[in-house]
Amino acid sequence: MLDYDLHCHSTVSDGLLSPTDLAARAAERGVKVLALTDHDDIDGLDEARAAAERLGIRLINGVEISVSWRSHTLHIVGLNVDPSYQPLVDGVASVRNGRGERAVKMAESLARSGIGGVLEGAYRFAGNPSLIGRTHFARYLVESGHCKDVSSVFKNYLVKGKPGYVPHQWAALADAVGWITGSGGVAVLAHPGRYTVGRKQMGSSTLRELLREFIDLGGQAIEVVSGSHTPEQYAEFARYAGEFGLLASCGSDFHGPGESYRDLGRLPDFPLGCRPVWESWEQATPMKAA
Ligand code: AMP
Ligand code: MN
Ligand code: MN
Ligand code: MN
Repeated sequence: MLDYDLHCHSTVSDGLLSPTDLAARAAERGVKVLALTDHDDIDGLDEARAAAERLGIRLINGVEISVSWRSHTLHIVGLNVDPSYQPLVDGVASVRNGRGERAVKMAESLARSGIGGVLEGAYRFAGNPSLIGRTHFARYLVESGHCKDVSSVFKNYLVKGKPGYVPHQWAALADAVGWITGSGGVAVLAHPGRYTVGRKQMGSSTLRELLREFIDLGGQAIEVVSGSHTPEQYAEFARYAGEFGLLASCGSDFHGPGESYRDLGRLPDFPLGCRPVWESWEQATPMKAA
């Protein structure tokens, strides 16, 4: 088992727990090194770090940036980023910018299919109004009795071809990777098994083109063990890591009790042969004195 959990969300994005409660739950469940990776925001890191210090666990400064690449929405996790690096601060602020307008359009689309009052309802679930997103809409649609749970919302609403879906332009891949690496962080392709064309996983030739481009831009790692991957996908993405010389990352992608496939906590080991992403910060060789 790995005692690293390098992907999770707090109320600063679309998680249900505050950064403090998230760190406490992680520590209780055996995590020794936790990265908080809120969507398009780094405001929770100070609070999470203070809690982690009290709890005796290590906090890695993280973020998960939304990216548009070709026709896909991708998520790029940054680990060990510097939250005071201005291009990163400004960059994630620019990604957050369009979310309010998108939310209005999502509510209009739902209203056209007979579901009203959703905008106000969704904002009630948003701990951080500048980060309003589909999860907050999903929670409201559950609360108001339109769906039985969040995952059934994402089958019937808010996705391509369904009411409430609004296409959106997120950050460019080059920008997201640049903000992360420019701040001294490692860019990680998050949950590659989640990128789909229709109902099928992104094809291997497209994924290879993506990985080549990601690496050329400075990307260094790929999530192999993810709460949204099956064990078969751990093996599949471990093979891509080997083929492309990428480091392997692991994270639950926890959003809240009862809402995520996998809780915070210890994750299954990497398949044999993976080089863990923490090599990049734990074995960093000190600079030779001039
Ligand atoms: P947004 O950035 O507003 O498009 O929202 C993306 C978020 O929606 C993801 O980070 C997940 O938290 C959530 N999400 C997307 N698809 C699903 C799904 N099938 N089941 C549960 N949550 C989902
Ligand atoms: Mn999310
Ligand atoms: Mn994601
Ligand atoms: Mn995530």
